[in-house]
Amino acid sequence: MSTQPNNPCTHEQTSLEVSFFDTEAALRLVVEGTSAVTGESFFQSLVHYLACALNVRYALITQCLEHPSRRVETLAFWQGDSFGKNFSYSTINTPCKGVLEGQECYYPNRVQQLFPCDIDLAELNAVAYLGVPVVSSAGSVLGHLVIMHDQPLKSEPIGLSIMKIFAVRAAAEMERQAVMERLLHDSLHDSLTGLPNRTYFIGRLTEVCNEQKHCSKQPFAVLFLDLDRFKIINDSLGHAAGNLLLIKVSQRLSSCLRAGDTVARLSGDEFAILLENTESYTQVLAIVRQLQKSFTTAFQLEQRSVHVGVSIGIVFQSPTLRNPTDYLQNADLAMYQAKRQGGGEYRVFNEQMHAQAINRLNQEAALRQAIDTGELQLHYQPIFSLLNKQLSGFEALLRWWCPIQQRYIPPTEFIPLAEETGLIIPLGWWVIQTACYQLRTWQTRFGCPDLKMNINVSNLQFEQDNLIEKVLGILNSTGAEPKNIRFELTETMMMVKPEKIAVIMQELRLQGVQFHLDDFGQGFSSLSLLHELPIDALKIDRSFVSRMTTDKTAKAIVKTTMALADSLEIDSIAEGIETPEQVEHLHNLKCRFGQGYLIAPPMPSQAMASWIESYSPMQNSPS
Ligand code: C2E
Ligand code: MG
Ligand code: MG
Repeated sequence: MSTQPNNPCTHEQTSLEVSFFDTEAALRLVVEGTSAVTGESFFQSLVHYLACALNVRYALITQCLEHPSRRVETLAFWQGDSFGKNFSYSTINTPCKGVLEGQECYYPNRVQQLFPCDIDLAELNAVAYLGVPVVSSAGSVLGHLVIMHDQPLKSEPIGLSIMKIFAVRAAAEMERQAVMERLLHDSLHDSLTGLPNRTYFIGRLTEVCNEQKHCSKQPFAVLFLDLDRFKIINDSLGHAAGNLLLIKVSQRLSSCLRAGDTVARLSGDEFAILLENTESYTQVLAIVRQLQKSFTTAFQLEQRSVHVGVSIGIVFQSPTLRNPTDYLQNADLAMYQAKRQGGGEYRVFNEQMHAQAINRLNQEAALRQAIDTGELQLHYQPIFSLLNKQLSGFEALLRWWCPIQQRYIPPTEFIPLAEETGLIIPLGWWVIQTACYQLRTWQTRFGCPDLKMNINVSNLQFEQDNLIEKVLGILNSTGAEPKNIRFELTETMMMVKPEKIAVIMQELRLQGVQFHLDDFGQGFSSLSLLHELPIDALKIDRSFVSRMTTDKTAKAIVKTTMALADSLEIDSIAEGIETPEQVEHLHNLKCRFGQGYLIAPPMPSQAMASWIESYSPMQNSPS
């Protein structure tokens, strides 16, 4: 219990019947005793000074535990010569019941006989009782203020006005405390899910780290969790559905944990878990597996059921880690590695991960520099007719010439990095500009105005607001005609915001630009997407073409894709043709276009120009 107020009176002064009562003096005593205190001290001072000022043995103040209230708990209880322990009780069959119903209740004598079931009255040997309700500014009863005496009191309720004044003051204090508690709660909790927030988590982790220094408790572990594909769900189903999913995820996470574990929402779709008092490495991994297993059941979002996975990074307590942020950072690094496995995985932090993170930062810096110093180049691969081997156009493919390694770094190695860092945006514009310019140059030089150029574009590029104006600006400045430009998009990128993408595609298509669906068969192959989006051709992924002559399933997929393209009345282009046999098969399946090493690999522009000059389709026509 906090510091007790100075005792202004002793109980010898309490009298049976107060012969003389000076209201003003009593009021002054309570006012002075309670003026400089707040919170718990205020309630203690109040009951203490009230009992003294009114010359009674007991005084207490309570707060309702439920609304409408039957149970209350004491906030302070003066029991004649000291503070009693706070306790809670039911007000049924007690004089307090009427008070909580909003009445002032005064029983100057024989209160025990009136309420024979009230064991507290009997235990205190109370004879007289006066209670007033503590009412909030909005008019609801928050609790009550009571004085009791072990002797009869005067029939006039002496001190009632003082009690009423201080009940108002007590109500203000309770409301102030409630606001403070709410503010404190809000500052430590996430408003959407109600889970603890980052501040709370760091605070708890700090406590746990300190406890570990002073006493040898069982070790703890920190988990960093990130939802897989959350952005896609949020973007495609909308923020309300995204929020609902986060709420459901937090409930599911909480349900997998033991009492005493802490789960917090750090931001967006990132969560952290503190597992305290862990028994073993195996136990932590079992909890992690349980968490991931719980995500195998779909989340029901009103009419839809949605599957989402979670990637988890784990850090075990270690003497080398000093503060909570070290734990979170390392768990985050481990989570990043788990995510790179494609989602739904977990990884335990190890020191190598630091080196990998530094390596990634270095790579990012090198890519920025490569863009600035012109180490990135476009190579071009011919796309040709499978009927007569005539050159139809090219696909522009990025290459990074690394002078140190003296080799071309393939796009699969640096495009994901460019996408993660946002560098793909300036890079993408450079690709479009360069490819359009190159097309125009070759069309003029070789007198083939119908040559086409296929350009790969990434998600992020397509999300830019001014995309249409910028594309048209480039076409205009380079002189490339929209009808000769084909943007290659992948299915996954179309799953995100399909409505927004459809609008952009339709506008560009009105200008004549075409769209090819790249790597078809690798993604979701959503048929509804093919209907909703203006797609002009399907590009059959290399993996199916390369296996189609030996593998029945691959052949069936190629065949089905052709039939699909045919029924949608769109073109099909086979990627990665390496043998005449593949050409023959594809030709028989009525595939119209292809590209692959058989005719030519991707080449820098000068080499490609020489190739075009010497290319003779007749030599390569099907037999
Ligand atoms: P993609 O668009 O599917 O490109 C086709 C890939 O197949 C190219 O790989 C090409 O070199 C390769 N290829 C073509 N014919 C053959 C063949 O006969 N045999 C074999 N083994 N491979 C063949 P590359 O150039 O490594 O590009 C990989 C991916 O990088 C591309 O796949 C594309 O998704 C992406 N990419 C390339 N350039 C860009 C770009 O400018 N922007 C964006 N966003 N992505 C690009
Ligand atoms: Mg492509
Ligand atoms: Mg492809």
